[in-house]
Amino acid sequence: MADTTRMEKLVSLCKRRGFVFQSSEIYGGLGSVWDYGPLGVELKKNVKDRWWRAMVHARDDIEGLDAGILMSPRVWEASGHVAGFTDPLVDCKQCKQRFRGDDPRIKGTPGQPDGQCPVCGSRGTLTAPRLFNLMFKTFMGPVEEDASVVYLRPETAQGIYVNYLNVLQASRQKIPFGIAQIGKAFRNEITPGNFIFRTREFEQMEMQFFVRPGTDEEWFEFWRHERMAWHVGLGIRPERMRFHPHAPGELAHYAKAAYDIEYEFPFGWNEFEGIHDRTDFDLSRHQQASGKKLEYFDQERNEKYLPYVVETSVGADRTTLALLCDAYHEEQVEGETRVVLRLAPALAPIKAAVLPLVNREGMPEMAKRIHDDLRGRLTVFFDDGGSIGRRYRRQDEAGTPFAVTVDGQSVQDGTVTVRHRDSLLQDRLSADAVAAWLAERVAP
Ligand code: ATP
Repeated sequence: MADTTRMEKLVSLCKRRGFVFQSSEIYGGLGSVWDYGPLGVELKKNVKDRWWRAMVHARDDIEGLDAGILMSPRVWEASGHVAGFTDPLVDCKQCKQRFRGDDPRIKGTPGQPDGQCPVCGSRGTLTAPRLFNLMFKTFMGPVEEDASVVYLRPETAQGIYVNYLNVLQASRQKIPFGIAQIGKAFRNEITPGNFIFRTREFEQMEMQFFVRPGTDEEWFEFWRHERMAWHVGLGIRPERMRFHPHAPGELAHYAKAAYDIEYEFPFGWNEFEGIHDRTDFDLSRHQQASGKKLEYFDQERNEKYLPYVVETSVGADRTTLALLCDAYHEEQVEGETRVVLRLAPALAPIKAAVLPLVNREGMPEMAKRIHDDLRGRLTVFFDDGGSIGRRYRRQDEAGTPFAVTVDGQSVQDGTVTVRHRDSLLQDRLSADAVAAWLAERVAP
């Protein structure tokens, strides 16, 4: 059941606290492009850093890559995107709205007298579906002609395939091994929406794992469990996630098998990661189109083959949205509604707020000293504006797990209180011990 109020509240919190703003807002906004503010950029960066650590640094068999957004247009011909990366588009001649041809709200058959527009309700006004390519086109160089068309990449994966031999040779890896990449991708979506869920510019974290044909099913199983475990490790509630296996009719043109990892967003269950067995589809297409041999010689088995690929592809923005939705809580505390983001401390944009209880009797000076000492080691925030209750509430909404408060006693005996965001309990400890105490609890 869609919960629009919950989503509206989250969008408004994101703006108020500086997580996410609408792009070009002062000009009325740009359709489904969003900008990450001071807290949002930290949160998303923590997600990406954690992915990179788990996928690249923590493993010997995965290498990193950062390929260009613009690539030879031949890449997209070979990959099948020029011909096949399309959605069916339907127009209403009456109200001029556009829909995906498979929009479940459409009644009847578009292009036929019974086809009914889901917005204005007119019958027989929907055009027959026509295929619309989702790739953004632009021109390379000063002349706007067909020969200079290039595309903004709709996925990061192709940058990995075309560099597969370079990485293999430079890193001296052996199959099985993987290449990981984080970067922007662009899709001219027909019906973007649901905040940062479906946008036209977004960030992907993709890993392509190259394996011997015949071992792909085993690796596919391995990676889908590994990826689910990673999401659980972020603190997302397991009961809000599930696998969705693709039925044969649902599979993308390149895939032999696919599982989505779905999260129960306030607008329903939806994919935020896909794990695909892409076989040798991509490498064989690139081998054929480029004329460059992409086969691997397996010394141990003394055989040559084109590797199969198991892909894990997750959106940094959709993961951030799942985290925000999962962390958002409203609760009653002393007769008032408290809004709190229960983000895992390792992911929280600000790890600790440092607050003088009142702005006198040496408290602000001592709080500043503590703040200056912590800054550079952790993301901390000094706040002396407004009542202590209001300052705590602002930090609860920002998801800050700890608040270090300097009070009257602090100035006397050098101790401070540390308030826990979730339990609201307070510990008293020596100001000198705060840095180590926090470091232990917010470690990535
Ligand atoms: P959908 O069916 O929702 O359009 P998809 O199956 O086309 O997604 P993939 O091509 O498998 O998605 O892309 C992998 C991941 O990239 C998705 O799970 C999602 O997290 C992210 N992603 C894809 N399209 C978008 C988008 N328009 N906005 C934000 N993230 C996206």
